[in-house]
Amino acid sequence: MLLRATFVLSTILGLSGCATPQTLPDTANIQPGERPDITTDEAGLWMASEDVERRLAASGRVLTDPEINAYVKEIICRLSPEYCADVRVYIVRTPHFNASMYPSGFMQVWTGLILRAENEAQLAYVLGHELGHYFRRHSIQQWRTVRDTASAMTFFSIATAMAGVGYVGDIGALVAMGALMSYSREFEREADDVGFEMMSKAGYSPDEAPKIWQALLQERDASGDPNQLIFFATHPSTEERIDTLKGLATAVPASARGVDVGAERHAKITHPYLSEWLRDDLRNRKLAGSEIMLKRLIENRGERPELQYFLGELYRIRGDEGDAQHAVEAYTTALGQKGAPAEAYRSLGLVHWREGHTAEARAAFEAYLRAAPKASDYAMVKSYLDQL
Ligand SMILES: [Zn+2]
Repeated sequence: MLLRATFVLSTILGLSGCATPQTLPDTANIQPGERPDITTDEAGLWMASEDVERRLAASGRVLTDPEINAYVKEIICRLSPEYCADVRVYIVRTPHFNASMYPSGFMQVWTGLILRAENEAQLAYVLGHELGHYFRRHSIQQWRTVRDTASAMTFFSIATAMAGVGYVGDIGALVAMGALMSYSREFEREADDVGFEMMSKAGYSPDEAPKIWQALLQERDASGDPNQLIFFATHPSTEERIDTLKGLATAVPASARGVDVGAERHAKITHPYLSEWLRDDLRNRKLAGSEIMLKRLIENRGERPELQYFLGELYRIRGDEGDAQHAVEAYTTALGQKGAPAEAYRSLGLVHWREGHTAEARAAFEAYLRAAPKASDYAMVKSYLDQL
């Protein structure tokens, strides 16, 4: 392992000692099935990237369910059939909005992103953007820039972390790879163009591309914290990108304009995960942004009692002025919809209890016990009734 790591490090650093590392023309697209020559710095970057991939695969954070994996992979293959076999996707359970493409053809897509995409077309646009970084070999170009301009310390710490040597663990390597993927504006524009062209050619509605950035901006503005979404740290100047994408969408002639949005397909595939991902999101405690996101999902996904339930949870957790009433309304709406989670009764009871509405609290707890007689907290909720 150490030997391998040392080799990876020295290959990236160009210290292999035998041959002068070859360099590829910066602008050449990667070809389907292509692997860089072993003597190049690009091959070293691929090996480091493959190490990160192995660790991620073994991390226990990757979703293994075939259906959702097939869904994301099918979008990628629809966007770029010729590269379908070269790209490997890992859906990572984490509540942040992010996706990243590694030089060797592996892509991470985070569940916080899939949750926030309103439909398949929006997800396709972001996946296309990431594929753009891959086709255009942005990682190796970025790597060479970092190598030539960063201080020795920064460079060595990134290289060491990437090679997995010494004191840094998995997270270190992921972060270091992430630093490499903090692309310049020029690369971001190029990836936007490639992503837009691919989603548009694949028959998705081009108008969806700017919408996902707009939604993210709203979340960021609500939070008042520009760094709230990790994505903004690596994908700058979103306002400008929205304008550019809107312009591109308008310019697509009617004859070539795709109409596929895929809202129902997206909602159906993601529905089994909705509660889990929303719970993850609230645990993240970025409640102002979550409120915007939940309201947006309620608007475009229609009756989903889980969405109302978690909106209620958000208000209950936050507890600002007026939130108790908002929580009661959201739980009541959820409970009026088909398939509402029984927990909505329990939470409704807790809010009423806190507000001193004893009769309403009692009714809600009793409804919970009737609806969930096998719940693990049955005895606890029963004890609430004794205390009321
Ligand atoms: Zn990007």
